[in-house]
Amino acid sequence: KEELNMIQGALELRTKTVEGVMTHINDCYMITSDAVLDFNTMSEIMESGYTRIPVYEEDRSNIVDILYVKDLAFVDPDDCTTLKTITKFYNHPVHFVFHDTKLDAMLEEFKKGKSHLAIVQKVNSEGEGDPFYEVVGLVTLEDVIEEIIKSE
Ligand code: ATP
Ligand code: ATP
Repeated sequence: KEELNMIQGALELRTKTVEGVMTHINDCYMITSDAVLDFNTMSEIMESGYTRIPVYEEDRSNIVDILYVKDLAFVDPDDCTTLKTITKFYNHPVHFVFHDTKLDAMLEEFKKGKSHLAIVQKVNSEGEGDPFYEVVGLVTLEDVIEEIIKSE
């Protein structure tokens, strides 16, 4: 029965989208790009428990970098290093995907390498102004795997 569930889950990857499994932007743990890596900020990052942390500039939907917790290994909190110094040094690419990306395609992208986290965006054409890209959440390999192995 468990095997059947997994096959079922795998087949559904073709129809389900990243928007259905992502972590909504309001629930994302993120950090502002002008943060200073003092003791308090570093403790907070560690306590979040996440490995990859989107870095935003001014607005939470403006993601400019990804901080990996391991990037902090050589940071001394007494030096009050700026986050920008660290993100510039490591310069991890930020990977964007559209909200309607199917999970099988997402899985292929994650398998191809680079990062196992992508920022989910959507075209917002509501309102008066020109349509614009809007960040709606983040999705990781774990979210996709979860869809395969979850039992009904
Ligand atoms: P890892 O397991 O590789 O150490 P992690 O535990 O930080 O990484 P994942 O295992 O990739 O994260 O994902 C676990 C869940 O947490 C997923 O649902 C994912 O969407 C969510 N998640 C990952 N990073 C964040 C974050 N910065 N803020 C909020 N949710 C996140
Ligand atoms: P590369 O191979 O150079 O990384 P890519 O298309 O894989 O290019 P991005 O250019 O970061 O990666 O785009 C990620 C996704 O967002 C793609 O599906 C792309 O089509 C879409 N996209 C298109 N225009 C924009 C834009 N102005 N800003 C962000 N993403 C965009």
